[in-house]
Amino acid sequence: MDNRSNSSTIANQQRVLYVTLGCAKNEVDTDRMRALLRDAGFEDAQDVREASIVLINTCSFLASATSESIERTLELAEEVAEGARKLPIVMCGCVPSRYGDDLPEQLPEVAAFVKSDEEDGIVSVVEEVLGTPRSFAEVDELLPNHPLRTVEGASAYVKISEGCDRFCTFCAIPYIRGRYKSRVAAEILEEVRALVAGGVREIVLIGQDTGIWGHDLPGKPTLASLMRQVAHELREVHGWVRVLYLQPEGMTDELIATIRDTPEILPYIDIPIQHCSPSVLKRMGRKGSSEEYAALFARLRSEIPGMVLRSTAMAGFPGETDEDFESLMDFLEREQLDYCSVFAYSQEDGTRAATMDDQIDENIKLERTQALMDLSEQMGFAATAAHVGQRARVIIDGVEEGSDGIELIGHAWFQAPDSDGAVHIESGEATVGSVVTCEFIDSFCYELIGVIVDD
Ligand code: SF4
Repeated sequence: MDNRSNSSTIANQQRVLYVTLGCAKNEVDTDRMRALLRDAGFEDAQDVREASIVLINTCSFLASATSESIERTLELAEEVAEGARKLPIVMCGCVPSRYGDDLPEQLPEVAAFVKSDEEDGIVSVVEEVLGTPRSFAEVDELLPNHPLRTVEGASAYVKISEGCDRFCTFCAIPYIRGRYKSRVAAEILEEVRALVAGGVREIVLIGQDTGIWGHDLPGKPTLASLMRQVAHELREVHGWVRVLYLQPEGMTDELIATIRDTPEILPYIDIPIQHCSPSVLKRMGRKGSSEEYAALFARLRSEIPGMVLRSTAMAGFPGETDEDFESLMDFLEREQLDYCSVFAYSQEDGTRAATMDDQIDENIKLERTQALMDLSEQMGFAATAAHVGQRARVIIDGVEEGSDGIELIGHAWFQAPDSDGAVHIESGEATVGSVVTCEFIDSFCYELIGVIVDD
C-alpha cells in the first residue's frame, strides 16, 4: 500500500513546525521524527503562522541548556497564544527524559511530552494531540522496518549508538539517554546508502562514546571496521566520513591505521579530554594525565601526518586547584590543538560531582573559563590562518549574504560542519552540495576566504 497517499488524507495536510535545540545528536533525532511524520502525511511548516502543531526537541546536557529549552518553549507558547489559532506544543528529547514526571504540572503550556526513547511513537502522539488518532494497526504500518530520516544538504550526521556507560561524575547524559547501545552495522549502512543516494557527500558519525562502538554487539565488531564499510559506500561519489567524540581509550591501533590508510576517512581526530590533571580526572571518573595525553597526541601526529586535532576542556571542576588549572593551560599551550571547545563546570542535578565538596567559586570558574576560551581562540585562529596559501576540498553548503553580495559558503575537510568555521568563496561557480577544490587566500578568526580552482 502507498502509505504516503493514504496517510496524507488521514493527516489532512497538517503542518509541523520543528524547533531543535542542543547538539547534532538532537538534529538526527528531529530528522527521524520529521521523516516519520512526513511519511504519515504531515508537511513541514516554516513558522508558527502556517503550523498546525509545534514540535520542540530539547537539550538538557547542562542546566543552562535546560533553561534555554524551557524558555524557548515558553516563547513559542507566547507566539502561539498571540496567533489566530492556539497551537499545541509537543516537547521531545532530553528535558522530558530527565524531568519527565514533574513536567506536566510545571509546563501546562505543553500538550504532550515525548522522552528520547519514545520518539519512534511521535506519529501517534501528534495525532492524539491533534485529535486525529489512528488505530495501532495503521501506525504499525507506517513505522518502517528500516531507518528513515530526511536528507538536507551535503553533510549528514549519523548516530551509531545511543546512551553512555562511562558515568563521568559531572555528566547527566547516562541518566538522560540511558546505557550504551550500539546500532547494528546493517542499519547504519542502510541509512548511509539512503543519504548518499539523496546527495549527501559527507557522513559524520556521532554517539556519546564512538570508540567503543560494537562492543555490545554479537561478534564485537569495531569502529574501524564500521568506518571502512562507510568509506566503501562513499568511494564512488568521492565523499568522505569523519567520526566525532572518541574517548582517548578509543584510539586503538586498528583505528589509527584505518584512518591513516583509508582515503575516504578524514584525518580529523576529535578526542574530548576535559582535563589533564590526574587528580581532577580521577574525581571526574576519568583516566589519564598530561603525560599520557601528550604521548597519545604525539603518536597520532606521527602516524597520521597532516591530521587535525580537536578536543574539549572544562574549567572549574570541584576541587580544581590553581596548579591543576595551570597544568591544563600549559598542556594546551604546548599541544596547540586545531580546535578546542571550552566548558565551565556546571553543577548538574543527580550527578555525583554536584554533591562534591570544594565547589569552585563562580568568579574563579568564570575567570578560568575565559582564560581557556582565550587560549582556545588563539590556537584555533592560528590553525585556521595556517591554511592560507593551501588548497583543499570543500563541500558547498549554501549561499549567504557576504560583504560583496551573495556568496557561496562551504566547509573544508578539516572543518567539522556546525563546529569549526567555514569557507567563504570569493570567486568561482559551484552548485550547492558539490565538492570543489579551493585555494585559501585569507582568513579571519575561524573563517577562511577561498577561490575555486581546478583540481
Ligand atoms: S563519556 Fe562522560 S562526558 Fe561523555 S557522555 Fe559519557 S558520561 Fe558524559
